[in-house]
Amino acid sequence: MFQGRQGGPSTVPPDDSQTHKEILHQPAVWRAVSREIAAMAADARQWVRAGRFEEMWFCGAGTSAFIGESLSVYLNERQSAVRYIPVPTTELVAYPQRLLRRGTRRLVVSFGRSGDSPESVATLALLERADAAGLHITCNAHGALARSEGARQRAIVLPDETHDAGFAMTSSYSTMLLYALAVFDDVPIDALEGRLNALADAASGLIAAVAPLAADLAPPQRVAFLGGGELRGAAHECALKVLELTAGQVASFWESPLGFRHGPKSLVNDGTQVIALLSSDEDARRYDADVVDELRSQYAPEQVLTVGTVRADADLAFNEVPRGWNIPLYVLPAQLLAVAWSQKLGLNVDNPFPDGNLSRVVQGVRLYPPPAPKVRLFGGMDVGGSKIETCLFDEQFRPLQRRRVDTACSSYEELLECIVGEVRWLESQARAPVDLGIGLPGLVDYHSGRSLTSNLPATGRPLREDLMARLGRTVAIANDCKCFALSEANGGAGEDAETVLGLIIGTGVGGGVVHRGRLVLGHNDLPGELGHLGIPGRFVREWNLPLLACGCGRVGCYETLVSGPGLVRLASRHGAPECSPAQIAERARAGDAAMSGAMREWVTLVAELIYTAQCTIDMDCVVLGGGLSRIPGITAMLAEAFQGQRMAGREVKFTAARFGDASGTRGAAMLLIQS
Ligand SMILES: [Zn+2]
Repeated sequence: MFQGRQGGPSTVPPDDSQTHKEILHQPAVWRAVSREIAAMAADARQWVRAGRFEEMWFCGAGTSAFIGESLSVYLNERQSAVRYIPVPTTELVAYPQRLLRRGTRRLVVSFGRSGDSPESVATLALLERADAAGLHITCNAHGALARSEGARQRAIVLPDETHDAGFAMTSSYSTMLLYALAVFDDVPIDALEGRLNALADAASGLIAAVAPLAADLAPPQRVAFLGGGELRGAAHECALKVLELTAGQVASFWESPLGFRHGPKSLVNDGTQVIALLSSDEDARRYDADVVDELRSQYAPEQVLTVGTVRADADLAFNEVPRGWNIPLYVLPAQLLAVAWSQKLGLNVDNPFPDGNLSRVVQGVRLYPPPAPKVRLFGGMDVGGSKIETCLFDEQFRPLQRRRVDTACSSYEELLECIVGEVRWLESQARAPVDLGIGLPGLVDYHSGRSLTSNLPATGRPLREDLMARLGRTVAIANDCKCFALSEANGGAGEDAETVLGLIIGTGVGGGVVHRGRLVLGHNDLPGELGHLGIPGRFVREWNLPLLACGCGRVGCYETLVSGPGLVRLASRHGAPECSPAQIAERARAGDAAMSGAMREWVTLVAELIYTAQCTIDMDCVVLGGGLSRIPGITAMLAEAFQGQRMAGREVKFTAARFGDASGTRGAAMLLIQS
């Protein structure tokens, strides 16, 4: 062994520091928590699943941030639509705009030993400001993280023995990491206990292997920890442990094995110890091994130590534990070496900074109020053949200003001018930038903004391009039924559903599909365009239904018989005098046989139409809108008929729209962020 610069005695009195005890105690802690971790994980997994998050942010400061650094690499390797992103709270607090940006279902997972650091407290305030969900993993039942409240906040408090009393985080780091793995890794719940016990066994063996080395090895002048993939975060933590516990007297660094060659290797001198964390992924480990061989050939071989599995033939070897779960084992030798070096340097291991320049829980961070949120306003416009409704919304899509004007549309040019005029009104009300969306009747190609069929003089015209050219800004355009579905699925009657079919039955029949809050656009913006499916032959034959020409150019579409005019046609075939859909429904309720016959056919056809949608998109919620949805009792009637006509399966919720006609402007306002 080379001599560290301190020289110093190679043996020191037995270490009775709290920090040392906490490091040695880790296997026992993991065995103890192995019994309760399954219940915790089952509960937390269910809560996380229900949130349908698209992004998981792993947040913390210092050691707590390195947990996320490791976990995100490991978890992102799995086939999953969810993205795991490490975001240190030390960045988040200073640059909060990213969190305050809306439009993504995001869970902020924060780690904190005390849960009381200034950054933890500031993060909680930001979560509230951003209305974001938070899962807080902490070791202190009395800290701010553990006490966080609110429907979207959840805390997991580790057993008290993980709440390290020493200056450096050791068992708190490893156990918080394991709890997060139990929640986010897809290990079967009933395998968790065995997994933790295997880890504890491996750790006990490793502690015994490191002990003689820790006793012998004098503190080096410099130490570099190398780790790739999920071990990058582990190397980061190893370096911090040495730096903290030796009060900076051993200068410590960290890098990935391949990254080390790109400059950082220049810190290696005769007094440098390199500790390489060998990946348990065999393919990646070939690169680690090459760097180790290179360093050993260029410097004294004993200047390079390796940590890894028995199979990797590492100097400090541990028994195999599945990847991800073995991260604490890579950090354990550095924890023990850092304590030994601290002691050999004559420091107080539990408090290497007696002058208080650094403290166990960070102090002295002055928190500033986050920047005033940029006022973000949304504008929605519902353009119909006779009226244009324009509405300004706040960030929660609550209406601020609304107005209706007649649609001036004797020509395409006049229509454009009319819409531009309403946009100018909206901007004058907002006095700030507005995200703008427009809903139109008929088919609209969302991608090109080209209007395909409509009762406006815009057919075939590139309406969106023309408007953007005049306004000098981005505008989203979609069919008004899509706007309806989008609005009802976000904060409306379909808020809690996974997949929402928004179905409008009025003068026409149309709809939209929203999955996890986002509009499904498909290849031609057709999802939900149900009115132009054909009525099944068995109903045509059984009831001798007429096959009528539809406005879309086809024959026998549902729209011809289930729209408002369609219901009137059904009633007239039963010999009923011509009256409105509302009157037909009312007379049917009063016992009129002809009207009842028409209503029965109508309900059966609409239920069949919804059944077809279910076989296609398998929605869990149907939100009804349009004039016919206001017929008293219609939602329950359709739900019952649907139940009788469908295949067996899980319940589908039927509900009337929450915002009704106002969903036209509200959904249009959401187009830019939710499509
Ligand atoms: Zn049609």
